[in-house]
Amino acid sequence: MLQLVINRQRLFGVLFLFIASIALAVSQERSFASPGESANSRKADPRLTPHSQTDSRKAQACVTNRNAPPLGPYHWPADANVTVYFVSNMFTAKQRVTLLDAMKTWTAVSEEVGSGVRFIDAGETERRMTCRGCLTVGRREIYKQDQHHYAFFHLMSQDEGRLLVSAWIDLDFGITNPEALEGFMAHELAHGLGLWDCETCKKKLTLMNAFPGINQNNGLLAPSRCDLEAVRDVYQGERLVVAARFQAASRSDAVRGDSQSALTSTGMDQESLSVFVLSNPDIYGAIWGGIF
Ligand SMILES: [Zn+2]
Repeated sequence: MLQLVINRQRLFGVLFLFIASIALAVSQERSFASPGESANSRKADPRLTPHSQTDSRKAQACVTNRNAPPLGPYHWPADANVTVYFVSNMFTAKQRVTLLDAMKTWTAVSEEVGSGVRFIDAGETERRMTCRGCLTVGRREIYKQDQHHYAFFHLMSQDEGRLLVSAWIDLDFGITNPEALEGFMAHELAHGLGLWDCETCKKKLTLMNAFPGINQNNGLLAPSRCDLEAVRDVYQGERLVVAARFQAASRSDAVRGDSQSALTSTGMDQESLSVFVLSNPDIYGAIWGGIF
């Protein structure tokens, strides 16, 4: 009988430890889920932190036009120091701080994603800057003239058909709310890092979602896990192109396979991408019809 009691106590002890370990595992799993994929649990703060994205990188495959944005035709060169000018009298001091926050967000992940691209505050300007590595940010009446857009990223000049030399961003005068402004700025800066608008991605899965209103963000103020993966792909491709150009002919056998594919279209070798590209994104849902 005593043996039976001891065995029961051991059994309860083992059961308790088992249940406790399951509970711990569940809480850890929840804490590792990215905010974009568990919006309900973190509604109070839509901002994504780079660390939470890193932890959950393997959680779910990034698929273009489903939870990852498509890639655009251009980007800043790898390791570029982009000097950012603000058109005089367009932004209040508080708004400038918000815009700088978006620049800091992308600069902070530059090593993690392999872009090496840093955004540097260059102060105010009276005109659009055309210098190499220069980005000018201003305001314009956009929505009243084009009711499909609230903001634009404009290419001014480029090298080699894909590398930005200079560009400017236009934000509508109506974007005044700090969190809206930060969201738009983070989105427009992402265009310069090779990301394109995602019309079929579900809400809050990418910075490249449409915006619900002129003075609202799209639910994110910083790149999602899949945004980071997409930028990583852009710059892996870019570095392949650069490496292929400078590697000696004696190593051409090793390089040729990469360089030929890397030099096509937007400079990406599809098989090397960590973001899986769907051939027919439209099957995952109707065009969202949002405004970018
Ligand atoms: Zn856009």
